[in-house]
Amino acid sequence: MMPGMAVSLSAEAMIDIWEQGTGRHPIDQALLLLRRVCPDQSLDALCDWTVGERDMRLLEMRRATFGDRIDGYAECPVCGVGLDFELSCEELLASAVPDNATWRTIEQAGCAWDVRGPNSRDLALAAAAPDLEQARRVILSRCVREGTGASPSGHWMDELGRALAARLSELDPLAEILIDVECESCAHRWQTVFDIATFFWNEIHARSRRLLQEVDLLARTYGWTEGEILRMKDQRRSLYVEMALS
Ligand SMILES: [Zn+2]
Repeated sequence: MMPGMAVSLSAEAMIDIWEQGTGRHPIDQALLLLRRVCPDQSLDALCDWTVGERDMRLLEMRRATFGDRIDGYAECPVCGVGLDFELSCEELLASAVPDNATWRTIEQAGCAWDVRGPNSRDLALAAAAPDLEQARRVILSRCVREGTGASPSGHWMDELGRALAARLSELDPLAEILIDVECESCAHRWQTVFDIATFFWNEIHARSRRLLQEVDLLARTYGWTEGEILRMKDQRRSLYVEMALS
């Protein structure tokens, strides 16, 4: 897909995807959105996209649908005070490294390692792990192998494992977006993970519900059909909602 061809979600498409994805795992919800971006790709092929590539498409779609600015929210792990932070899809997209699904060789601890960016299949397996450490192990065992072609052995969460995990996230910076935050109340500093798939899905959920409330109001007021109301431009629909409420 060419840059600048980002797909925005129409009101009808959004409600459609929201219905299909409600109650499903976030990995599947992200795949539903990807299918909208690349309808010619099979689900199998989309599962092979790296998380970084997936999130790049989701960021582009989010920007085309709701605009560039993201209003994030995090709670201080020390004092519990909530704080808002701002992100830009454009800036996040600047760190994207596309085309990292293939194996490449890196040097670590004097050895050669083959690594590749994690994809949705790796994530799904990691998500089934009982805790975070085991989830990381799953990712490492699938995305890192010794340069000799042998599978890695030994203890993955020792120093070497952590070093390799760090190299893996360099390879795929969008796979885990870490935001530096500082608490305004107690000055604690920490890093919070920003997950575009979950964030975008929550926005789709909120907007879809609001759209259906607007359909309900306008259908009762003017007698229009659901399709007619959803196909209106947002601006026009909002004006009718205002008039119906006045
Ligand atoms: Zn605090």
